[in-house]
Amino acid sequence: MSKAVIALGSNVGDTLSNLKKAVRLLEDAGCRVLAKSKLYLTEPWGYADQDDFLNGAIIVDTELDPLSLLGVTQGIEGKMGREKLFLNGPRNIDLDILLYEEETVEKENLVIPHPRLHQRLFVLMPLNDVASQWKVPGHGKVSELLANYLGDERVILTDLSLD
Ligand code: AMP
Repeated sequence: MSKAVIALGSNVGDTLSNLKKAVRLLEDAGCRVLAKSKLYLTEPWGYADQDDFLNGAIIVDTELDPLSLLGVTQGIEGKMGREKLFLNGPRNIDLDILLYEEETVEKENLVIPHPRLHQRLFVLMPLNDVASQWKVPGHGKVSELLANYLGDERVILTDLSLD
């Protein structure tokens, strides 16, 4: 079994139920959820004219290898009817594999650690909730990445929960 951290995001429809449904579908696919982050409201990145995102992260324990896990996350995005209108545009569900143990994967369709992980506060904050002591290969400990973050993104802690 291996542990992986998956980031969850949604800014279309009932965003909280979208995140919860994605977690349920991951469980159905054999991922055991070990930890759930708090949830954060974040301003959209890259394309501003859209609603804020609800963002979180979970740790899963899985027998799936990284590429099979990507198959599962993409299958869930497809099943939930995600329409990708354009890059960085609105989406009802977005699942990214942030970390897989302390492994590095560099495939055409899968890069782990997720390449922009250390530059995005909306990723680092939920990641720090569940995996503050994990090392991000090539970048250092999650808690240090968050402490050293220098950007000015607006990320608001909500009282919503994945439970
Ligand atoms: P996005 O629009 O953020 O969901 O990006 C999806 C694309 O990123 C897909 O083509 C994936 O194959 C690719 N990708 C590369 N690395 C990752 C990763 N660590 N997690 C999820 N998708 C990834």
